[in-house]
Amino acid sequence: MDTRQIINENFINELLEKSKNVSKDKIENIIEKSKDCLGLTFEEAAILLQVEEDGLLNSMFHAAKEIKEKIYGNRIVVFAPLYTSNECTNNCLYCGFRAENKGLHRKTLSIKEVINEAKAIENQGHKRILLVCGEDERKTDINHIVNSVKAIYDNTDIRRINVNAAPMIVEDFKKLKDVGIGTYQIFQETYHRETYKKMHPMGSKSNYDWRLTALNRAFEAGIDDLGIGVLLGLYDYKFDVLATLIHSDYLDNKYNVGPHTISIPRLRPAHNSALKEVPYPVSEKDLRKIVAVYRLAVPYTGIILSTRESAKFRDELLELGVSQISAGSKTNPGGYEEDNREATQFETSDERSVDHMLQIVVRQGHLPSFCTACYRAKRTGEAFMELAKDAHIHEFCHPNAILTFKEYLLDYASGKTKEEGEKLLEKELNKIVDKKIKEETIKRLERLEKGERDLY
Ligand code: SAM
Ligand code: SF4
Repeated sequence: MDTRQIINENFINELLEKSKNVSKDKIENIIEKSKDCLGLTFEEAAILLQVEEDGLLNSMFHAAKEIKEKIYGNRIVVFAPLYTSNECTNNCLYCGFRAENKGLHRKTLSIKEVINEAKAIENQGHKRILLVCGEDERKTDINHIVNSVKAIYDNTDIRRINVNAAPMIVEDFKKLKDVGIGTYQIFQETYHRETYKKMHPMGSKSNYDWRLTALNRAFEAGIDDLGIGVLLGLYDYKFDVLATLIHSDYLDNKYNVGPHTISIPRLRPAHNSALKEVPYPVSEKDLRKIVAVYRLAVPYTGIILSTRESAKFRDELLELGVSQISAGSKTNPGGYEEDNREATQFETSDERSVDHMLQIVVRQGHLPSFCTACYRAKRTGEAFMELAKDAHIHEFCHPNAILTFKEYLLDYASGKTKEEGEKLLEKELNKIVDKKIKEETIKRLERLEKGERDLY
């Protein structure tokens, strides 16, 4: 496969060149058009990425909020990462887990420890985990991942496990599919080949093409729920955001379904990082714009925000179109049971507990969702997109968000969160227009009160 056909750097550079100095009228028209939720062309996305003027940026933010509300309502899906290993044979310059970081305390969790971590995450109220590990074929091969996933499903009430791990061969992706993962997530880090080469000097990750084609192999193996992203700060964000949109479009054209999510990680300080500074700093203003451009360009793709960002800034980004957040995260293997900062991948910034985070989410008028129903009801890939595009997905997601948040309030919430959460649930119930769905949701809420769980 000629991967330069997928990511054609000349094409991206030309788009960025042509998109400079576009009239205000044209930009306003693009923003207006985006509100139809039909997405943007690459040319239009490039034009919006060049916007610096506050008035126009504010119009983009309003449009992003409007689109998010149309498609996702006020729901915010909540999850936590579980790091099973920090052992790695690659040497990504920016990462605390890189092989040449001799000062890192290395650890691969045993199955028993994986279960303990998952239970600690479950005790915070989570139902959805993102399993993350370094790449070391002696420690974190497919058996390590599959056995960890299986053990968590078998021993806890965690209901969906997404995986962020190194690219694999099709046979291994099939094993991931068979063990019932939710999303397979992989970040290209940067689509700019020369920068990619510099940042990934050794190990299998130095192979750009092997990484770029990982999602093709995942699709071949039957995994149709995929997550992409770039590590913002490695190269010019305008180039990388456009390339992400191009990659997304390529997958959509080839497999009839684009990525389920795009993540927006910004480079963080890491223990013994080989980078002394961020090569291409991305400011908060830039990140707001990036979120808005993604929301306008690919309205049906979820946007994931991690605790790499500060509490205050995260609260703000929720308003701009983010649809999933991690909360209460640790980035070191075993970190939920025992805090060992010598083993972390990078420094998190938002260190609020899940409960504290949810209080804020609720106060901002969002409905936290621990729902995992779609993939368990086989609403993934094309089936999910068809429902989403008809806005039918609300009929499933909204009641399920209400029910799973109710479970959280019953089982894990502090007094204050419970009080504010119950008020929100009352409002949310009243938003359900379909009489039958509303009655069924009320019945299920009563069943939850009586002790039943996992009703969807
Ligand atoms: N080892 C696998 C890989 O690299 O694809 C999967 C796990 S890796 C720990 C997950 C992601 O963490 C990477 O794709 C990278 O984008 C991100 N990451 C690494 N170092 C980071 C840093 N210093 N700040 C923010 N994110 C970082
Ligand atoms: Fe290893 Fe992934 Fe970190 Fe690179 S980003 S050093 S592959 S864990």
